[in-house]
Amino acid sequence: IFIRYIMRKFKKEIIIKNVTIGNNHPIAIQSMTNTKTSNIDDTVKQIKVLENNGCDIIRVAITNEKDALSIKEIKKQISIPIVADIHFDYKLAILSIQNGADKIRINPGNIGSKDNLLKIINVAKEYNIPIRIGVNSGSVEKEYLEKYNGPTINAMIDSLDSHIRFFEENNFFNLVLSIKTTNLNDTIEVNKILNEKYDYPLHIGLTESGTRTSGTVKSSYVLGTLLNLNIGDTIRVSLTSDPLDEIFVAKEILAMTNHLNKPTLISCPTCGRTSYKMMPIVNEVEKYLNTINKKITVAVMGCVVNGPGEAKHADIGIAGGIRKGVLFKKGEIIKTIPEEDIVKELINEIEKM
Ligand code: SF4
Repeated sequence: IFIRYIMRKFKKEIIIKNVTIGNNHPIAIQSMTNTKTSNIDDTVKQIKVLENNGCDIIRVAITNEKDALSIKEIKKQISIPIVADIHFDYKLAILSIQNGADKIRINPGNIGSKDNLLKIINVAKEYNIPIRIGVNSGSVEKEYLEKYNGPTINAMIDSLDSHIRFFEENNFFNLVLSIKTTNLNDTIEVNKILNEKYDYPLHIGLTESGTRTSGTVKSSYVLGTLLNLNIGDTIRVSLTSDPLDEIFVAKEILAMTNHLNKPTLISCPTCGRTSYKMMPIVNEVEKYLNTINKKITVAVMGCVVNGPGEAKHADIGIAGGIRKGVLFKKGEIIKTIPEEDIVKELINEIEKM
């Protein structure tokens, strides 16, 4: 359990199995599997890795009946809530709920008739699960496109507003909202407006944000800006990469904006003085630190000459020498370690702290 600092606008509490979002609850980290959902073994395996690294809510794509039926078995093997992601087919939404989905994500604009949407609402009410309604530039109805001359921020908000009204008129208030665009500043602006206008929790993220590098930069800018304004109740960093990277980046963004307590890893950029194979070591240390929630600063430095001194503000650190390294605390060298044992020794010391 990670401790997060929150001072956000009042939001309705929405319960997704064992995770509550909204009013002053920790900002939940989401990711989405990229396995075929009907491949239960692979899907569970991926979810477990994500869960162990800090994923709070997992979303799976429901593309056919087999996917929807698989939710039942997947659920038995994981502990975090599972969200069914459905496009176009209201029957798959209903089947997913009946098979245990803890929440569904639909885009009402592509579900078809209001009758079909009402059928989903009624089953969600019966099973008492929330629905995230999402709108993006591609799903805005013709009337709003014409009114605003394209899928502008106002067009998307009007579209979402019409869906919210339909849910509320049918006595359904168990909602999470999202509007995603590929334009960074539009995403910031639209979420500011949604945050003011509604008391439903917001799911924030960018759509099609790109690769690990570009997607991380864009998500840090957008989600960092919003979280600094205390906007957002659950986040997903979308990357064309391993979903685990989404969790790592999401945690860094939450930590950077003071919404999550996690270890801080510092490392030098390396230079001609670097005298050991530092990159695999720093990756290994980062991987380990992602599994713990101690509020400590850990340094991985390239050389013994300057490393401990440059990183003296770190609680603990390692610096490399030739085929060996040193372990230091607050800049003071504690011991010398053979290169092959350096990560193991560092982890041992951190465990004791
Ligand atoms: Fe170079 Fe050493 Fe500084 Fe790293 S710690 S940048 S290796 S001088």
